[in-house]
Amino acid sequence: MSFHNSSSSDLQPRAPRKRKRSSAERGLASDHDLANLARTYLEVQHRLWPVPVTQGVLSAMTDDVIQQMVAHYKECHQSQRLDVTTAMDRSNGLQLKLAAAYARYSCDNSSPTSIVDQMVNCLHKAHAEGRFIPWEFIFTDYSVSGLDSGRRGYLNCKELINAPEKPIDTVYIDDFTRASRDSLEWWKLGWFCKRRCLRMIGASDGFDLSSPNWDIFITIYGLLSRLFIRSLQEKVGRGMKGAARRRTCLGKPPMGFTRKLMRDVDGNPIVRPSGRPQFTWSIDPVSREFVEQLFELFVDRRMSAYAIAKQFNQQKIDGTDTWSESTIKNMLWNPAYIGVFIWNRTRREFDFDKEKYVTVQNPRKEWIVTHEPSQAIIPLAKWRAARKLLAQTKRKPGLRQPVSRNQQRATTLFSGTLVCADCGRELLLYRSAQQYKNMYCVNGRSGVYGCKLCTSKSTRVIEDCLLGFLRDTVLTEQSIDELVARANEHLKSLASRPKVNVTPLRSRIASLQKKIDSFVQRVENLKESEEGLREGYERRIIQQQTEVDELKKQLRETEQTNAPVPPKLSKKTLRSYLPELRAILNQEIPVAAEAIRRLTGPIAIRQEAIPGKKRGARWIASFSPDLLAILRHVTQEKDCPDSVTLEYLCGGNWITPAAVSVPVESVPKYEQLAPKFRELHDKGASIQTIAAAHGLCWDQVKMILRFAATGERPSWPKKKKSPNRSDKNREKFMSHSDEVVSRRSNGESFAKIALELGIGETTVRRAWDHANPCCARKAMENGVTPVRGAYRHLKPEQIREVHSCLTEGKLSIPEIAARTGVSQSTIRRERLRLTQG
Ligand SMILES: [Zn+2]
Repeated sequence: MSFHNSSSSDLQPRAPRKRKRSSAERGLASDHDLANLARTYLEVQHRLWPVPVTQGVLSAMTDDVIQQMVAHYKECHQSQRLDVTTAMDRSNGLQLKLAAAYARYSCDNSSPTSIVDQMVNCLHKAHAEGRFIPWEFIFTDYSVSGLDSGRRGYLNCKELINAPEKPIDTVYIDDFTRASRDSLEWWKLGWFCKRRCLRMIGASDGFDLSSPNWDIFITIYGLLSRLFIRSLQEKVGRGMKGAARRRTCLGKPPMGFTRKLMRDVDGNPIVRPSGRPQFTWSIDPVSREFVEQLFELFVDRRMSAYAIAKQFNQQKIDGTDTWSESTIKNMLWNPAYIGVFIWNRTRREFDFDKEKYVTVQNPRKEWIVTHEPSQAIIPLAKWRAARKLLAQTKRKPGLRQPVSRNQQRATTLFSGTLVCADCGRELLLYRSAQQYKNMYCVNGRSGVYGCKLCTSKSTRVIEDCLLGFLRDTVLTEQSIDELVARANEHLKSLASRPKVNVTPLRSRIASLQKKIDSFVQRVENLKESEEGLREGYERRIIQQQTEVDELKKQLRETEQTNAPVPPKLSKKTLRSYLPELRAILNQEIPVAAEAIRRLTGPIAIRQEAIPGKKRGARWIASFSPDLLAILRHVTQEKDCPDSVTLEYLCGGNWITPAAVSVPVESVPKYEQLAPKFRELHDKGASIQTIAAAHGLCWDQVKMILRFAATGERPSWPKKKKSPNRSDKNREKFMSHSDEVVSRRSNGESFAKIALELGIGETTVRRAWDHANPCCARKAMENGVTPVRGAYRHLKPEQIREVHSCLTEGKLSIPEIAARTGVSQSTIRRERLRLTQG
């Protein structure tokens, strides 16, 4: 509760997420600091070594030179490369021994300038001992904790100590506690120098590795630095514990939270002893949406952490594209989102075995847990659901993974559902490119464990076949009716069972229980002299207790069968769920995949060769669709009487879902067309007519018909760059199509058109068919030659005269012929035309 208006300005904007520094950049100072270091180096060396300056070993102090030095230093630091030759070449003229200096600044002491002081001390000490330190042999680590042994400057220094040319004979360090606070590192560095017969000198504390007691010194320094760290840790730990209890800020708040200024009861900001204001964590209105989105994607839409990370990176959520799967998982685990804040859960500790720092969990009693329901972003139920999902995917050590990743969050509709019938392995994506996803058995490819499933199938084909089957055969009114009929019959038979009287059972149990009680009483009241009887009593008690347990089990079972049977299923209501069931298949992939798995159970896949085909195989999917289970799932969330009955029915094993086999294959178009073409052809349709009606070529239809007759699969010509004959023909008749149609409608004969256009008569017919596909289709269906317009050599007035004579019906054909001057056969043809309409 707050007594003041905590204005929104108390909320601090969230700090932008920073990219993790690459390992190459760790310990590298800013350009400004490096320039400062280089300038001081030149200043001191110029003063100490007047001769080398005149010899050109040391450059003059200009901005360009300093820039160069900084660039060179950075390059060496980042690439972890030593430039020994330059340093040696340049100092060759000097008859001086060379040395190296190592300086370190860590956040727990002093300012970055102290690194300059350290270097100056080393330069002076080296000068006093007559040794020259070239710029290339100055190594520094900025702002890196001494506990981190992976630092670059330190590693480069070690490299130089190990260099085969042996360019140096001494390493200078300002103060021995600076090199490393970790005794293990101490021994390593000392040992390195010893093995290479190098000196190691502490510029300020006068430590000398070559002194006889060097190892004792190292032990003592190690001890001292350890004590120093311990006291520092305790001090910091105490302060932080207090801060955690006061709910002031510790560290960076997770996404969804931000820092908020703390105020006292009078509304004044609370300040720390240092004068800076104190902050606490509070919900950040901006990023809380991201948290809600995260949980929605994971729990409701069943997206995987990996997919969420990908999406977050694409959308630059929270202004960053550094999301990874583990970040997402950590966020989902975080109890802060239900308002539970835990501090001091883990600590960092050096693992001497692995030689690195590891995170260790503290005992629970050391945790500081605060619960603030007002700071919850996610409802408890949703957060729990997320945890449950996370826990399911977690691999348990030493156990086979109980649920596969695909069963958790499918990537395709049938991921996690398809199983190899040969070896029992889950089928996986073989190729997962957007358009050409393929599934296969890992073992089948090389035939491991005798697996024979060596082919892969496109997910498109799998989905088409299996979903088609589910839609057309399983999710139908007919199958629901069948299920309801069987279920109701079963319920009827259950209801008609006679009730068993349980009273004798109950009284038997009660009398036995009484006996046991009396035995127990007797055992308790045994006198010391009767100790021998104890064992006999106890045996009796155990015997009778087992009998009671057995009877109780019987009673439970009988009571269950005596329980009233739930109402019958209603055909009508269950049918009304059908659209909903079908809609399930169209949901988002992970959710739909789960529903499909519930409906089908695991689908076993085996393959069988396709006759007449060398490559590829047909897949046969065998499974037992369980309509009852999916109906129960759909009705579960609804308040309907059927849901109770379905729940009741699911408990028993009265029904075993019938197993079905579904072929999974993409049937080629020619195979689909073959039976139809054959039938048409048998009915009398010509090849050309069928081809025209289907927009195919003559030779294509010919090959399909041959396949239908003999089973010989067509070998389609491979696509060539130059068009083949049939393509040329096609082009030819298509280009003449319009011309032919217009000439034909004027009554010209095909022979005449062919002659005039300079093409074959067949091509002319094809051209006409191409323009009139309906006519060809009609003819094909009736098994006749299409009527391709009419050719008449008669003039229009002659036709009219002949027709009028024919319709009058008074004159015979020879008489009409005599009157009109048209041949008798022509008149007969015209009569046929009239009668046929
Ligand atoms: Zn297999």
